[in-house]
Amino acid sequence: MYNPKSLKAEEFINDLEIRETLAFADENKDNLELIDSILEKAKERKGLSHREASVLLACDNEDKIKEMYNLAEQIKKDFYGNRIVMFAPLYLSNYCINGCKYCPYHISNKHIARKKLTQEDIRREVIALQDMGHKRLAIEAGEDPQNNPIEYILECIKTIYSIKHKNGAIRRVNVNIAATTVEEYRMLAEAGIGTYILFQETYNKESYEELHPYGPKSNYAYHTEAMDRAMEGGIDDVGLGVLFGLELYRYEFAGLLMHAEHLEAVHGVGPHTISVPRVKHADDIDPDAFDNGIDDEIFAKLCALIRISVPYTGMIISTRESKQVREKVIRLGVSQISGASRTSVGGYCEPEPEDENSEQFDVSDKRTLDEVVKWLMEMGYIPSFCTACYREGRTGDRFMSLCKSGQIQNCCHPNALMTLKEFLVDYASEDTKRIGEALIEAELNNIPKEKVREICKENLVKIEQGIRDFRF
Ligand code: SAM
Repeated sequence: MYNPKSLKAEEFINDLEIRETLAFADENKDNLELIDSILEKAKERKGLSHREASVLLACDNEDKIKEMYNLAEQIKKDFYGNRIVMFAPLYLSNYCINGCKYCPYHISNKHIARKKLTQEDIRREVIALQDMGHKRLAIEAGEDPQNNPIEYILECIKTIYSIKHKNGAIRRVNVNIAATTVEEYRMLAEAGIGTYILFQETYNKESYEELHPYGPKSNYAYHTEAMDRAMEGGIDDVGLGVLFGLELYRYEFAGLLMHAEHLEAVHGVGPHTISVPRVKHADDIDPDAFDNGIDDEIFAKLCALIRISVPYTGMIISTRESKQVREKVIRLGVSQISGASRTSVGGYCEPEPEDENSEQFDVSDKRTLDEVVKWLMEMGYIPSFCTACYREGRTGDRFMSLCKSGQIQNCCHPNALMTLKEFLVDYASEDTKRIGEALIEAELNNIPKEKVREICKENLVKIEQGIRDFRF
C-alpha cells in the first residue's frame, strides 16, 4: 500500500503507485485542460505532486513544453536569482566491496588502480583545490568497512577543515558515502558536514537488485531508507539523485518526487538538493550497455520539471555533462555546479600516470575553475562560493523558511558577491577579474535593503585589504 508517511521503502516508494501514475500520465498526456490546470498550480510556486508532474513529463505538445520551460526559468530566477553555487568532488578512496554494474569501482574490477588517500595526500589535494579557489567540497568514497571505515571518513573531514593555506579554506564538506547506520550519521553530523548526498541510482526495486547483485548496497530497503536514518541521526540537509540511464526515466522521475514527498511528510522538510547524473563511460563500463539512456532534450525537460515540482530544492549538475548541456540546464533550474573536477583518487595535485587510472567516470567538462567562473559571468550569472547558511545554522526547515520569507536577496545575494570578490582577488586571471569586478559593481544594486548594501560595500573594500570570510 502506498503511504508517503511510512518508513518502509516499499510503501513510500510504491511500485504500484508509480505504475498507476505512469498509466494516468499516458492517459492524460493530451488532456490540455488538465495540463493547463497543472501549469496554473505550478505557477503558485508551491510545487507539484508526482502524479501532476508525471503528466507534464508525458505531454509532448510543443507549446505546452515551451510553457513548462518558461515557467522553470521564471521559478529559477525568483528563487535562486542569477547565483550559481560552485563546488568540487574529492575522491578519498575507490576501495569498494559492492558489485554495482555501472560503476568501475565494483569489487570484481581487478585492473583498476585501487587508491586511498592518506591524511598527507589529503593535505596536498586540499591545498591544490584551495589554490584554484574552491571553498566547498563533496567527498566521495567506495563502500569498504575495512579500508574506508567511518573513522577514516571522519579523520579526512577533520583534516580538510583544518587546512588553511594562504587565504584558502574549505568551509563546507558535503559527504557522498554509502548508506549507513543512524549512529554513523550522527558522527557525520557532529563532524560538521554540510549535505549528506546519496544517489538512489534507481527507484525500481527489481532493476536495483539486478544492478547491485551483491555487497551491502544490494539491500534495496536499507539503501532507500537511508535518508530517514540520516535525518534521525541529526543531518538536516540531505541530497537525492538517480543515475539516469539505468531505468525508464519516467519511473525514476516519479520515484524521485515520491521520495521528496516522503521526506516532507515525515520530517517536515524536503531534500536540500537533487542531483541528475547520467551514466558515463568509465574504465570497464560502457554506457551503451544500459538500455535507458536519455538524450539531451529529455534531460533538459527533466531538469525543468524538477525545478517546477520542488521549487525550494537546489539542483546539482556535475562535470559528467558538457559545457553545452550545462549551459542549457543552468537556465532551466540548476543552482549548483562543479568545476575543474577530477574523479580519480588523488587527481588534483598532479595528474595520474596513464597506467594507474583510478577514475570513477570520464568528465565531459574539462575546463579550469577560472574558465568556468568566467563563462558563468559572461552569461550573466554570479558564481557563488558561499557556504554561509549551514555555518549560521540555517539548515533544514530554517533554510526553507529563509527561502519562503523572500529574504534570500538580502542574504544569499550579498554573500555571493563577497565570496566572488574573494575569488577574484585571490585566484582569478586578469580577464576574469575585470569581468567580475564589473559584475559585482552592477549586482550591488540588486540588494534590496540599503543597510545590507552598505555593509556589503564596506566588506568588499575589506576583502581587498586582505580580510576574509564575511557573511550575512
Ligand atoms: N559508494 C557510495 C555509494 O554507493 O553511494 C558513494 C557514491 S559514488 C562515489 C558516487 C556516484 O557516482 C554513485 O552514486 C553513482 O550514481 C555515480 N556513478 C557511478 N558510476 C558511474 C558512471 N559510470 N557514470 C556516471 N556516474 C556514475
